[in-house]
Amino acid sequence: MPLVVQKFGGTSLGDADRIRAVADHVARTRRQGSDVVVVVSAMGKTTDDLIHLADSVSSVQPPREYDMLVSAGERTSMSLLTMALADLGVDAASFTGSQVGIITDGDHTRAKIREVKADLVRDALAAGQVPVVAGFQGVSEDHEITTLGRGGSDATAVALAAVLGADVCEIYTDVTGVFTADPRLVPEAHRINRISFEEMLEMAATGGRVLMLRAVEFARNHNVPLHVRSSFTWEPGTWVVEEDADMEEAVVTAVTHDTTEAKVTVSGVPDRPGVAARLFRALADRSINVDMIVQNTSAHGTTDISFTVPKADLPVSVETAQAHSNELGASGVTSDSNVSRVSLIGVGMKSHPGIAATMFETLANEEINIDMISTSTIRTSCIVRTDDVERAVRSLHAAFELA
Ligand code: ADP
Ligand code: ASP
Ligand code: MG
Repeated sequence: MPLVVQKFGGTSLGDADRIRAVADHVARTRRQGSDVVVVVSAMGKTTDDLIHLADSVSSVQPPREYDMLVSAGERTSMSLLTMALADLGVDAASFTGSQVGIITDGDHTRAKIREVKADLVRDALAAGQVPVVAGFQGVSEDHEITTLGRGGSDATAVALAAVLGADVCEIYTDVTGVFTADPRLVPEAHRINRISFEEMLEMAATGGRVLMLRAVEFARNHNVPLHVRSSFTWEPGTWVVEEDADMEEAVVTAVTHDTTEAKVTVSGVPDRPGVAARLFRALADRSINVDMIVQNTSAHGTTDISFTVPKADLPVSVETAQAHSNELGASGVTSDSNVSRVSLIGVGMKSHPGIAATMFETLANEEINIDMISTSTIRTSCIVRTDDVERAVRSLHAAFELA
């Protein structure tokens, strides 16, 4: 029997009607002859609400307690969905991440999955049940409850699909697939029918939050086909698969934007071997995910290094850079959280010169200043002012005729 992992996001489970609609869909998939493993997110804005509650009682928020708190959201939705399935006569059972053996490292609030045991999931399937698993959560080797970072239910779903050898991992959400830009921002954006893991990775890494980055990495590494689709219309959506000849032949596939990062600049850094190594080792030791890095050419034996980090990590990053800058004799550390990133993604960039030039011209025509630039073989990103980023996305989407 084919095996499908179906993951439902927050909006898809937003209220009682939505939960019943999801239960209907799971029941239908079973009737059509597939085994189903369900992975759920917390209902609606539950996770945000829990985080706000934490903010209102504590400025310290020990990470262990944060994970205990936010992992509660998925527990509510898994049991409610299982009850709704019972009403339809579907034999289902809910499980926490810890129960099904989602084993993670101990890095609370952004733990990484180390191993997926899934014994109880296999047992439930063998007994003809539908296992309903709480996404976003796991348990560390020290038996502590952990969470996988925002959007982490996607990672739970893909990891389970990989170890169970599922035929497909379906990600149900509130849009009908992966679009050429965030459809909330660019109404003329269109759905991409098939996209390669490589392009989807770049999209997820640069703000296309429809899929969590780590979930896409996992899917690529284990070759799990992903099908991103709507739980409102149930129509076929976007397939994320290995690159093949059937893919749309656009030079640029999508425009993404990310408003979650901030910029740190260390100026007057002595230009000698080992300086960058020490700075970035210190940041890595504090688990800070540094993204773009730009170093100027040196003048008079010193240089400036700028990099971006998640906004939430800005205070620690500045503190770390400051400690380091004193030690190395740099002249100072500044930061800017009013920056955003706009990126163009497309495998066609490998073979078509001039994409970056058109991107910069388009931004120039809009009088949008570029602060930092970075590229990969299939992506070009610019850091711009946050006030300009929506205009940047719309103008690039139009300039590359993605509508
Ligand atoms: P879920 O709760 O189902 O996981 P998310 O909010 O995490 O849903 O992701 C879906 C949202 O991702 C959409 O509502 C959409 O606004 C946003 N999004 C951003 N970029 C894109 C894109 N390129 N294609 C589709 N959706 C995108
Ligand atoms: N509920 C979690 C969050 O809001 C996980 C998820 O939705 O995937 O981030
Ligand atoms: Mg999500």
